[in-house]
Amino acid sequence: MVKIRKSDHILEMAYSCVRWFLLIASFYLYFNNYYSSSQNLTLFLSLAGVAILYMTTTEIALHRTPIASGFYHFMTRIGVVMDYFAFIAIIAFTDGTHSPLLPIAYLIILHASLYWSFRGAMVATGMIIIGYCFVVVLVDGGFYPIDLLRHLLNFAFLLMFGVIGGIIVARERKHFVEKGIFENLAKQDYLTGLYNHRSFQEQMREAVASKHGITLMMGDIDCFKQINDRYGHQAGDMVLREIGSLLSESIPSTQGRAFRYGGEEFAIILYTNNQQKATEQFQVFMDKLKAKVFEHGKAAFQVTMSFGAALRDQGQGKSELVAAADALLYEAKTHGKDQLLWGREEGMKQ
Ligand code: GH3
Ligand code: MG
Ligand code: MG
Repeated sequence: MVKIRKSDHILEMAYSCVRWFLLIASFYLYFNNYYSSSQNLTLFLSLAGVAILYMTTTEIALHRTPIASGFYHFMTRIGVVMDYFAFIAIIAFTDGTHSPLLPIAYLIILHASLYWSFRGAMVATGMIIIGYCFVVVLVDGGFYPIDLLRHLLNFAFLLMFGVIGGIIVARERKHFVEKGIFENLAKQDYLTGLYNHRSFQEQMREAVASKHGITLMMGDIDCFKQINDRYGHQAGDMVLREIGSLLSESIPSTQGRAFRYGGEEFAIILYTNNQQKATEQFQVFMDKLKAKVFEHGKAAFQVTMSFGAALRDQGQGKSELVAAADALLYEAKTHGKDQLLWGREEGMKQ
């Protein structure tokens, strides 16, 4: 989805540049070839003023507001409608259906198909044909037999472009969405729904490459083998699933990300290297786990976990950090389990 938005954003910027270019072209054509009266000029300049206002607002939406914002969404969608009315006005001012700017219609069809796929392309094509007919009646002075073939050919080309363009864009959209689904599946752990080991390695690589401080926690379920042995592997799977849900619920994506490292081991990356902050954030999960009663058939039991946590505050590398958190996890295990251990050195930093 993010990739689609980014590529749409590039297209929106291209459309915005094209609008400015077409505005200049309209001015040039109007004053050189089609200026008729001062009354007509007033109307032309008023409409050009509205266009400039709208285009400037669009520029602000494109360059100053986040892609996910409502304002951005509104301005880009309304753009298709505004372009439609601008198109009718431009061709009305530049010789009606003989206008050299008539091919703007094709740009509008493509723009509509970008957001509303094949249906958008067809609606835009229909609307343009209706607008074209209005221009024939109001500007050209009516449908004359001599022009009929030209009009029919224009309609035929618009329809062909709408259908073919709509199919191509709809196919490209479907491909994009499917690609996103497969990419997400490749990052996800099937059982817990958390990010998987591969995704963990990628995230760690990115986190280490960036300058931001992070906290890495390695966690392991205590005495998990006993759960499998006592209640069966399905109960074990249920515990893994539920712990995955508890982690997802407790760690908002703005604070960090949880991964299934492998087996009954989990890794958590928090986007802070302040121990106090990280402890507070992680406490949400610890409290939930403490309160959680797992049920399997008639059995009800509780589960504890051990954690080792390492802060990245001195530019440590990926394996250094994993090894540090791992060593602390091992220490937590050998010193009674059911606890979170911080590195001694790192523990000083608050
Ligand atoms: P400790 O407290 O020292 O961590 O002991 P433990 O029993 O949790 O650890 P141990 O390494 O002895 O056993 C881990 C078990 O986790 C063994 C393995 O069968 C089980 N396990 C690993 N992955 C899965 C899984 O996907 N589903 C189930 N049900 N069990 C799993
Ligand atoms: Mg283990
Ligand atoms: Mg274990």
